[in-house]
Amino acid sequence: MSELIAAIATPPGTGGVGILRLSGPGAAQAAAHIFQPLGKTPLSEAPDRQLLYGRVFDQAGDLLDTGLAFVSRAPHSYTGEETAEIQCHGSPVVLSLALDALCAAGARLARPGEFTQRAFLNGKLDLTQAEAVIDLIDAETPAAARQAAGQLNGALSRQIDGIYSALTDLMAHFCAVLDYPDEDIDPFQAEQMGQILARQEAALQALLATSRRGTLLHQGITCVLIGRPNAGKSSLLNALAGYERAIVTNIPGTTRDTVETKVTLGGYLFRLVDTAGLRDSDDPIEQLGVARSRQALAEADLVLAVCDGTQPLTEEDHDLLREALAQADTILLANKRDLTDFTLPQPAANDAPNTLTVIPLSAKTGDGLDTLETTLARRAETLLPQAAQSAAGELLTNQRQIQAAQRALDGVTHAKDALDLGMTPDALLTDVEAALEALGELTGRTVREDITARIFSRFCVGK
Ligand code: GDP
Repeated sequence: MSELIAAIATPPGTGGVGILRLSGPGAAQAAAHIFQPLGKTPLSEAPDRQLLYGRVFDQAGDLLDTGLAFVSRAPHSYTGEETAEIQCHGSPVVLSLALDALCAAGARLARPGEFTQRAFLNGKLDLTQAEAVIDLIDAETPAAARQAAGQLNGALSRQIDGIYSALTDLMAHFCAVLDYPDEDIDPFQAEQMGQILARQEAALQALLATSRRGTLLHQGITCVLIGRPNAGKSSLLNALAGYERAIVTNIPGTTRDTVETKVTLGGYLFRLVDTAGLRDSDDPIEQLGVARSRQALAEADLVLAVCDGTQPLTEEDHDLLREALAQADTILLANKRDLTDFTLPQPAANDAPNTLTVIPLSAKTGDGLDTLETTLARRAETLLPQAAQSAAGELLTNQRQIQAAQRALDGVTHAKDALDLGMTPDALLTDVEAALEALGELTGRTVREDITARIFSRFCVGK
């Protein structure tokens, strides 16, 4: 039987309102212990989800605050258990004394994510929906929040459930055939099975195709800054991030490792990565930096090649540009526009001058950053088409989901190939079972406990 848990659900610090949550057997009683409504009905006897106004008391029975409270009985609550919530003023002292009083009334402190974990264990949410809760809390852009809200609403679960149920029906067919082991699958049945497998294969492929958009939305578009030492990469990263994240000095080669920061520009989330440079060097530390920079470049969705506009482009600038263009969509940023000897750089014939966007700007004064922001937003739209937003909630957004969906696809493809080759039903059965197992992991039907523990550890206390 689960224990009674309690937590402060609002963030630390002061605020207008602070909320205490309880879940588990005896939640209403424990809450009633510290909350007395002004009306006659005690909180423990109040109808479900009816807000009552009353007084909040501490462990010694002294008045702490006035506020609102409600109870919700199993199974009609977030966790599926008996729950109670008390809303006080958002004072850390009041909330902590009230929490002590709840613990004295029989509750223990909740672990991070324990409320949502109970909701999952009680079948209120599947695992993709539980992940959506934390994604929604952590969302850094409106698009990421919309995606998480859709997923929480079951958009992804419904898709997976559709595939799961079609494959379960197919299993029933196989099992029926297996009862007559001497007979082959008759051609008509085999064709029908093949069609079902092909449809589910296509559905899983479509789902997996969403993962790039999902990852970009969730982790941000990786935008790598490259350029010769002193071009102004760190200054630009800081200007875009709006705070001092990288060390800016006028000694070439200060940034020896990659430095990254997340920023929202034009409504899109970007992961800006400042690199150490790509110059070959004898210094082992610099070599390490160069290796990291190359790695960053290989992972880039976009490259910002920064050059010092007060100097003509050098051979090194051209080499960097070509290397960047070979990897990803590249924008040339001509920095230090505020200086009088600034001139717009002339890309060489090999630098794809016809398609290369050149933006003059000054990381120091901020001049031209608005043009850069608009350009980045436009590139983001290409990487994250509008469709990603209309299908809110139907994207795979993390590696756990992607890997499980891939395993399900592998199982279905194997089964389809085996059927085409005329393999026996028992061989097909194993493949479809593997696919079902992977889908079960995706939604949490058959997931291992250590995996769920890892997911819920990302949560905050009180959620
Ligand atoms: P990095 O080596 O490419 O990361 O270059 P930094 O960002 O460290 O900048 C090198 C030097 O150029 C520093 O002294 C900066 O203050 C200066 N700097 C960077 N951007 C600008 C700019 O837009 N205008 C001017 N005048 N100086 C800049």
